[in-house]
Amino acid sequence: MLRYKDLLLMSTANASTKPAPYRLAARSDATQTTIVDLGSVKIGGGQPVVMAGPCSVESESQLLNTAYAVAEAGAHLLRGGAFKPRTSPYAFRGLGEAGLKILAKARAETGLPIITEALNTADVELVAEYTDVIQIGARNMQNFALLEAAGRTGRPVMVKRGPAGTIEEWLLAAEYVLATGNPNVILCERGIRTFENATRNTLDLNAVAMAKHRSHLPVIVDPSHGTGKWYLVAPLALAGLAVGGDGLMIEVHHDPDHASSDGPQSLNHEHFADLMQKIKLQAGQPVAREVGLN
Ligand code: PEP
Ligand code: MN
Repeated sequence: MLRYKDLLLMSTANASTKPAPYRLAARSDATQTTIVDLGSVKIGGGQPVVMAGPCSVESESQLLNTAYAVAEAGAHLLRGGAFKPRTSPYAFRGLGEAGLKILAKARAETGLPIITEALNTADVELVAEYTDVIQIGARNMQNFALLEAAGRTGRPVMVKRGPAGTIEEWLLAAEYVLATGNPNVILCERGIRTFENATRNTLDLNAVAMAKHRSHLPVIVDPSHGTGKWYLVAPLALAGLAVGGDGLMIEVHHDPDHASSDGPQSLNHEHFADLMQKIKLQAGQPVAREVGLN
């Protein structure tokens, strides 16, 4: 029986011969796969990779508390924003370099590689000194100077899809990074803006499958920003893996009701550990085999 993954990838053979404008990001054949190798963790290597942690680094005790909890539950990377893009200029905008230092300390203590956002070109070198993966936030998907500056640091770069970005624009954003000579690019679907307002964004699972079809780059699914509701995160996380996502980005806070940012979409430690159990149970099941996850 043909696997879903084979159908999805095989169909590139029948695609029109018109070359894609994102020539480096485009999938050339069904076997082409980019694996972003962080040493202990391989993103796109067939095992779902989970990046977890708070939206913002708020303090050393807060980050270490959650870092140990997500490590214990089986997360592969620690996330946390030190430079925060906020809709309101009066909202908490992150601890800046002090936050990066806290992230580095959490990495040293837990062994988890870290991912954090670079918000502008002025800070990208600083962020690269501390982090294992540079996150380009959704609002910056078409900040071409930032994409190039991030690419030139040589660090792996995760490009989040903009809330109004088409799949082609997203892949072209990834192309900006690849065109600097940096092959270690990860895509992240985090929901788009639609007419629907019951959820913060609409997690576009079409785009996850389509990005796998069109590109060899690994695709991470972020159901936290994609839904904005903590109680929708687990089902959409599992769905994101079921459509072929290579991993997840999940916001986790020890006390979501008192988080400085994105509390309503953050899992507490218990709910995160429960989700990790569900992901492990899904591994090896028919749906995981269908999408090529182990
Ligand atoms: C985040 O990851 O906390 C974040 C700000 O995400 P996005 O850029 O997708 O809104
Ligand atoms: Mn957030």
